[in-house]
Amino acid sequence: MKIDIFDYNTNVKNTWCPGCGNFNIHMALKTALIELNRHPSDVVLSFDIGCNGNGGDKIEGFRVKGLHGRAIPFAVGAHIANRRMTVIADIGDGGCLHEGIDHLIHAIRSNYDITVLIHNNENFALTTGQITSTSDTGKRMYGFPNGKTEGDINIGELVLSLNPSFYARGFSGDPIHLAQIIKSGIKHKGFSAIEIVQVCPTYNPENSLELLKSKIEKVEESDDIEIARKRVCDDKKLYTGVIYRNSSIKDYYSKLKNRQNIKSELVDEVKNHSISNILSDFQ
Ligand code: SF4
Repeated sequence: MKIDIFDYNTNVKNTWCPGCGNFNIHMALKTALIELNRHPSDVVLSFDIGCNGNGGDKIEGFRVKGLHGRAIPFAVGAHIANRRMTVIADIGDGGCLHEGIDHLIHAIRSNYDITVLIHNNENFALTTGQITSTSDTGKRMYGFPNGKTEGDINIGELVLSLNPSFYARGFSGDPIHLAQIIKSGIKHKGFSAIEIVQVCPTYNPENSLELLKSKIEKVEESDDIEIARKRVCDDKKLYTGVIYRNSSIKDYYSKLKNRQNIKSELVDEVKNHSISNILSDFQ
């Protein structure tokens, strides 16, 4: 059966601001899933709180919207239970690098076969624009009238320091290229960390579409970690594409000795157990 956009669209009214990068990111995600011919019933999408998370009811699939920063652990659980599903976590820079940073680190190290889209608009936008770990040092935003004091976290540098199997960067201003990057991430066997440079014209207008476009440079896929590191640390350019892939790193399930030669998924092995005897002890 051929999948098309009507399989993924919902009737929920969109509330993102005009010009928000989320529109193009959602379109790129839907395009990637359609081009891979994945039916929504084969897709799990895990969102958290944030402007990105408000996209959770605007796309079909098995969707969950969890606590702030917790999109990754739900996605990991869904993947471990049933590898037949395409599992995608959709999270913002605020949730991913503050409450959720431990989940990102350990998911990369475990190399679960899921794809994580990290919307990086360099602010907590849903709560009217406060600084996050990716905002520039010195940046003034609501709640920080004298500017951010801490240094900023470079997502690419962080990911590359953790021996990842896949790191890519896309741009909300180029949804066609972003869709191809997301496709590469979904097809990759292992943890695919995809940072998406996203415009937020309402609360981070300094990072305008024009400014970001002037810095973007597309690159070919690389398996050279030193080249990848140079690229993510270049503060004059924003390189996009599959910045680094190491296909020699085994994904999580391939490392589990007790699951080798087992054809079923954990979800197939769940049995019904009556707990009425246990409950009767409390009556
Ligand atoms: Fe998009 Fe920013 Fe508006 Fe949120 S506040 S919907 S991220 S433009």
